[in-house]
Amino acid sequence: MADLRSDTVTRPTAAMREAMATAEVGDDVFGDDPSVNALEAHVAALFGHEAALFAPSGTMANQIALQLLVPRGEELLAGADAHVVTYELGGAAALGGVSTRTWPSVGAALDVEEIAAMIRPAGYPSVPTRAVAVEQTHNLGGGGVTGLDTLRELHKATSAAGVALHCDGARIWHAHVADGVPLAAYGELFDTLAVCLSKGLGAPVGSLVVGSAEQIARARPLRKRMGGGMRQAGVLAAAGRHALDHHVDRLADDHARARRLAQALEPLGVVDAAAVRTNLVPLDLSRSPLDAPSLAAAAAERGVLIAAMLPRTARLVTHLDLDDDAVDRAIDVLTALLRTG
Ligand SMILES: *Cc1c(COP(=O)(O)O)cnc(C)c1O
Repeated sequence: MADLRSDTVTRPTAAMREAMATAEVGDDVFGDDPSVNALEAHVAALFGHEAALFAPSGTMANQIALQLLVPRGEELLAGADAHVVTYELGGAAALGGVSTRTWPSVGAALDVEEIAAMIRPAGYPSVPTRAVAVEQTHNLGGGGVTGLDTLRELHKATSAAGVALHCDGARIWHAHVADGVPLAAYGELFDTLAVCLSKGLGAPVGSLVVGSAEQIARARPLRKRMGGGMRQAGVLAAAGRHALDHHVDRLADDHARARRLAQALEPLGVVDAAAVRTNLVPLDLSRSPLDAPSLAAAAAERGVLIAAMLPRTARLVTHLDLDDDAVDRAIDVLTALLRTG
């Protein structure tokens, strides 16, 4: 099977398992796990922040950050297609009492003036805006990358308004590799970041919230309240550290394979190859004989797994466990299906 459904389907490599097997561990709820403590310090330093907190998932990392930044009953601004709006099951409202208002879906192509104009100042009786969340890279935006200049403009606007800026950086590593922007250059623009080790980096589990020492001290009980206090989590932290040390630069290979997929499928009218910047390849099936579930089912019968995201949108994802042969197979199978319907 060539599995292109997601970059979360990767399995730990032999070297990663070795790092896990030999990790020093302790009880992380007591702050005693040296591997977790080292990973947190390392990731904080990568982004030029004071501290970080290891969490079981990217969703929990985002939700902790939103609870840090937005008091109950106050407001978050995000894109309508943001992960925090679409895929976190209403967590901002259900867990943090956060009111969310969205700008229209534009993926990574942020309109800073439009976002700035949405910010509502504190003052009874309107809901004050307390934070803006952006996604880097943008998942439903086809893995799009927001340029550093745009993020700097946004940071200027939010800090002038006294509003916090959060980055859902589940795949920020991909943006760093695609645009050659140092992680610390992103870090300096955001009050908090949530980053994932279990997507393209290939760790089995793990994400981190990154912020100031004061924020991370407040984040620890928030994580515990949500059931995210883990004990000998060093086996997971060691996998994450191995991923950071060995699997970041190689993301360029995933990007090249995604580009190759997109270029091969572009003549079928389902993808704009020039828009594919990272490891996600969205297929627009609006003019195709097959809708997304039918294409996914037919491809699966032929050994190629893809994700049906919307009725007429499918997604292909390249990752650590997908080689050139698997990409060739996906191109052959999808080309045959999309030609004949
Ligand atoms: C995957 C993802 C997350 C976190 O997902 P988990 O499955 O909870 O780890 C957050 N944001 C974006 C943009 C993602 O793609």
